[in-house]
Amino acid sequence: MKLSKRAAGISPSKTLSVDARVAEMRKAGVDVIGFGAGEPDFDTPDYIKAAAIAAINHGYTKYTPASGAADLKEAICEKLRKENGLDYEPSQVIVSCGAKHSVYNVIQALCDEGDEVIIPSPYWVSYPEMVRIVGAVPVFVETSPENGFALKAGAIEDAITPRTKLIILNSPCNPTGAVQDVETLEEISRVAVKHGIYVLSDEIYEDFVYDDARHVSIASLGEDIKALTIVVNGVSKAHAMTGWRIGYACGDKAIIKAMSNLQSHQTSNPPSISQKAAVAALLGPGEPRRNMVKEFKQRRDYMVDRLNKLPGIRCVLPRGAFYAFPDISGLYGKKLGGTIIKDSETFAEALLSEARVAVVPGSAFGANDFVRFSYATSRERIATGLDRIEAALERLMLS
Ligand SMILES: *Cc1c(COP(=O)(O)O)cnc(C)c1O
Repeated sequence: MKLSKRAAGISPSKTLSVDARVAEMRKAGVDVIGFGAGEPDFDTPDYIKAAAIAAINHGYTKYTPASGAADLKEAICEKLRKENGLDYEPSQVIVSCGAKHSVYNVIQALCDEGDEVIIPSPYWVSYPEMVRIVGAVPVFVETSPENGFALKAGAIEDAITPRTKLIILNSPCNPTGAVQDVETLEEISRVAVKHGIYVLSDEIYEDFVYDDARHVSIASLGEDIKALTIVVNGVSKAHAMTGWRIGYACGDKAIIKAMSNLQSHQTSNPPSISQKAAVAALLGPGEPRRNMVKEFKQRRDYMVDRLNKLPGIRCVLPRGAFYAFPDISGLYGKKLGGTIIKDSETFAEALLSEARVAVVPGSAFGANDFVRFSYATSRERIATGLDRIEAALERLMLS
């Protein structure tokens, strides 16, 4: 087999492979508690499903324009105006097959071989791989739990070279749950404008903010930064629609046009039926979203509290998204089952075999002393999973 260098150099998504492993174990009759999920456990609201069924019944089952249907672009513009204080025309909007596809097309449209892309770390698993696929180079800027994984504009500026093309921001952040303050975003926007560097702002978790945290789009901080920013969002997380595959990007008309050209040769349009469902989601009531976020906050409080009571584990209180991201390095050198814990992967392995609990090793996100626990699962299962981990760690501490 002689694969292309490009394909051979890419590793599969570790978050998706944890899900696959859990599914396999369940099929074999093993009762696994999965904290791997990167999607809400809620069902898509009925009024959204009804819009999709109506689309099918009305024969809305053909190609749409490659960059998305006009009514959905209008709905996206309205949403951004109302919720984010952002004014875009439909020609500045592209609808893609999920926000992931939008992120990929932004990178494809902007980055040449050898260009550098600044990625705060810990990062979403797909950013560096997407950057590598196009031959560009990821440059990581570290953040740390001591200050809640807050970004520092100075560290970003220090990472800028003549080859820097793009900065990727993800607030609220997967996997850390960090929500960047407005002041930090203002400082970053000044750095980006000063050096003329594009910003990809992945805002897929905007609704999932807790306590006093507030989501602000960096693009809303002024015309200069808006011109350099491509806002990416979608309906997957906020409307519990991961399987429908609708995301979107907004920004400079020429960039959106280039993305649209690329997309017209890759996937053509995103699914017509899902687009109708997304219109209903974006124009529909905010109630289901707010209820989901309320429930997630309860789960977060419970999970983080219990994690911090476990020996050798330290977890900062995440202010957004639906993940806890504890440091597990306090367990290094201990033995669980047959495994000596020495990094996030051995810890995740041991947890799966000894406690039948699945988590995603932090190595997937560039943070090998951490693991990611999703709380997008019922409180009952969260409690059971943590009971199991507690029992396993008690055994380990006695050994
Ligand atoms: C889930 C997720 C996405 C992608 O969502 P889609 O299902 O492709 O719309 C993008 N960015 C981050 C950080 C995510 O966690």
